[in-house]
Amino acid sequence: MVDDSNVGQKMYQLADTLFPICRSITGDGVRETLKVVEQHIPITVHEVKTGTQVFDWTVPKEWNINDAYIIDPQGNKIVDFKENNLHVLNYSAPIHKKLSLEELKQNLYSLPDHPEWIPYRTSYYQEKWGFCLTHNQLLALEDGEYEVVIDSSLIDGHLSYGEYFIQGESDEEVLFSCHICHPSLCNDNLSGIALMVYLAQALSKQKLKYSYRFLFIPGTIGSITWLSQNEKTAKRIKHGLVVVCVGDPGPFTYKRSRQSDAMIDRITLNVLETSGAPYEVIDFYPYGYDERQFCSPGFNLAVGSLSRTTHGCYPEYHTSADNMSFIDIDSWAESLQTYLSIVNVLEYDKKFINVKPMCEPQLGKRGLYDATGGTHANDKNFQMALLWILNLSDGSNSLLDISERSSIPFSTLKMAAEALLKTDLLEVFAIEQGKA
Ligand code: ZN
Repeated sequence: MVDDSNVGQKMYQLADTLFPICRSITGDGVRETLKVVEQHIPITVHEVKTGTQVFDWTVPKEWNINDAYIIDPQGNKIVDFKENNLHVLNYSAPIHKKLSLEELKQNLYSLPDHPEWIPYRTSYYQEKWGFCLTHNQLLALEDGEYEVVIDSSLIDGHLSYGEYFIQGESDEEVLFSCHICHPSLCNDNLSGIALMVYLAQALSKQKLKYSYRFLFIPGTIGSITWLSQNEKTAKRIKHGLVVVCVGDPGPFTYKRSRQSDAMIDRITLNVLETSGAPYEVIDFYPYGYDERQFCSPGFNLAVGSLSRTTHGCYPEYHTSADNMSFIDIDSWAESLQTYLSIVNVLEYDKKFINVKPMCEPQLGKRGLYDATGGTHANDKNFQMALLWILNLSDGSNSLLDISERSSIPFSTLKMAAEALLKTDLLEVFAIEQGKA
């Protein structure tokens, strides 16, 4: 657990700092974002050159932008990048010219169904220019001569990404990955970045069995680049989650890994199921976020994705309405706790052995069945957890197995196991015992 009731507020503040930055898959907006992340956790920033071959892809030209706007026939600035960075088609090529309304309209994007929102559009791999505006703005445009200015550059440079690694006892790794390539969008992008920062901070203070790797990367090209340059490291990744859309108030959605019944799938679903809150589970499909790359057949890593309302399933998705007010701080903090609960299972799941298996042992005389009020005496779940652990700890079931069978939260079983370990009833199951 994060022992910090303000962590939701802290994630909000971090996202609020990052919100105005114009990010893309490359460029100074990504670097600025990583600099802010670096103030919270000591990430390493990697720079990969334009033109670098990464499997079937090539690291693109670096995009930067200073300004972009449209001047209407009356000389007014009407669609201004400086007011909202979504106004420019992300990765727009530079342009400065005068043109008719008809010609201009071929390069404009709006949302007729949500006439007050600005859409988020990109054109990374096809050189284009364009503006995004509200549909009401579009309808108000009058005939005449317009002037468009996009002061951007597309030149040889680098793709930047951030990486943070925590060495645990084992070299086996757990991966958390989020995309950092969206401009002023909150749930899709910033909610994941902020959650990963505070997850990493919390884990950096713990003694850990696994090693943990956190990737702050541009979507698609970032994970392809990382995988192409870290094929050997990728083999050490045993479990992973893509962190995305974790700040809205909707119920959780878990997208299974391509393996579909990997340990991370079981653990995430167990944590969601025993939390009692509603959730949805969807099977892996080859679309979405970077799980597409981690789960490509050549890697087939056990990487799922835990979101709240997932991409495309909320109308605000990829629009100016996915802003800081779309986020619910309590839900966001609950998302972080859920990720920590998953780590807790990964770290602590093990088998125990009941060393007095002939009938039920008497718990009362060991202070574990205290009707007059011990620490957990009134917790019926805790009493049941003791009985389940004693019954199923024959060397074939781990605490996760017991949680799945009993529907008791893993955290309660862990407390019960720790209480039993202090008595003469339970021991950690050693593999040698299995061979006897
Ligand atoms: Zn997106």
